[in-house]
Amino acid sequence: MAKIAMKNAVAELDGDEMTRVLWGVIKEKLLVPFVDLKVEYYDLGLKARDDSDDAVTYASAEAIKRLGVGVKCATITSNQARVEEYGLKGLTPSPNGIIRAELDGTVFRKPIIVGNIRPTVSCWKKPLVLGRHAYGDVYKNCEMSVGGPGKAELVFTAKDGTVTRKTIMEMKGPGVLQGIHNLDASIESFARACFYYGLSEKMDVWFASKDTISKTYDGRFKEIFQRVYDAEYKTRFAEAGIEYFYTLIDDVVARVMKHEGGFLWACKNYDGDVMSDMVASASGSLAMMTSVLVSPDGIFEYEAAHGTVQRHYYKYLKGEKTSTNPVALIFAWTGALAKRAELDGTADLADFARRLERATLDTIESGVMTGDLAQIADPPAREILDSWQFIDRIAARL
Ligand code: NAP
Ligand code: MG
Repeated sequence: MAKIAMKNAVAELDGDEMTRVLWGVIKEKLLVPFVDLKVEYYDLGLKARDDSDDAVTYASAEAIKRLGVGVKCATITSNQARVEEYGLKGLTPSPNGIIRAELDGTVFRKPIIVGNIRPTVSCWKKPLVLGRHAYGDVYKNCEMSVGGPGKAELVFTAKDGTVTRKTIMEMKGPGVLQGIHNLDASIESFARACFYYGLSEKMDVWFASKDTISKTYDGRFKEIFQRVYDAEYKTRFAEAGIEYFYTLIDDVVARVMKHEGGFLWACKNYDGDVMSDMVASASGSLAMMTSVLVSPDGIFEYEAAHGTVQRHYYKYLKGEKTSTNPVALIFAWTGALAKRAELDGTADLADFARRLERATLDTIESGVMTGDLAQIADPPAREILDSWQFIDRIAARL
């Protein structure tokens, strides 16, 4: 069989631990036999990031921007234990944080739905997509611990030297302080990315913050969303028969639990961090959740929503064939290849991506799955396989 050709390359970002192991198997069994893969490869394994002082991470972000499409394996965000485990020079920043900042993107997370895995929230009938602003707030904070009483102030020095100050608190004793920020430009990109996504997927867009309490900070988010919507999307949304809805974050949380899904939930950075894990877990499994980072200028980076599955990796190192679920990693690849095909106008590559997704879902729906899904499948699994056997079955079906 002649392999499917690719016109342009995608940036491939390899990662760590169990996901790195599966990444290799997926390429070997599901991609290379069918597609003449064109990639620019970057090793984002922890040691390689540390050795290059993160030069490789910045180079990979540059490649995603240049090529327009990237696919990323899960990576370790280092902590002290990892410094010892890998013999690192020091703590390295989160590679996802670096790439998100470079692309100024919004992360969209969407559950992968199969008929025999039901969400734990029984009213969810359609995928609930979560859009997470990936810039600023507590992820780019400045914190301070203070040892005793004193006056805490917020000070802004404008370019022309004008100083604005406000008292945060007359501290009566020791405590902690935190400064956070966001930028109008980034909030606008976030709003645009969400409305654009809603329109392209024909989904209502819900956005929530806490503007009743945070009148200036969260109030700005609310204002900008409304302004971008009124100026650029209101008419197009009406034509598409979809709506934009703003409410308070606690109100959305309550409504989501009673709703059938099928809308985009736009979240500020922290809300998105927390709520995406809730949505993933309640949708069935963390391993059935895709994640795509979309920049305002239309650059796409696809990945799995889960981490490197460290616990499974240690079993693998002891020689065990683990039953780690590779579905979100497979969908990261199909997402990237389908986007590449769309940009390049290569119909056979688009068709391949679609068939690989179908083969994966059909395998699960036939009752053949990994252990994580077997715990929640209804009807129960017919066969529970390790990752290698499961990937082989998908390959056979493909
Ligand atoms: P994790 O890798 O997401 O795994 C947490 C647990 O979720 C696993 O122990 C496993 O549960 C279950 N799980 C996740 N993915 C699974 C899969 N594909 N198949 C089956 N079960 C799955 O999170 P972690 O172990 O807390 O973090 C490990 C490393 O990942 C950390 O170093 C962290 O920095 C990194 N991380 C990276 C990213 C990213 O690159 N995007 C995101 C998050 C975390 P059981 O053990 O119960 O089977
Ligand atoms: Mg999280």
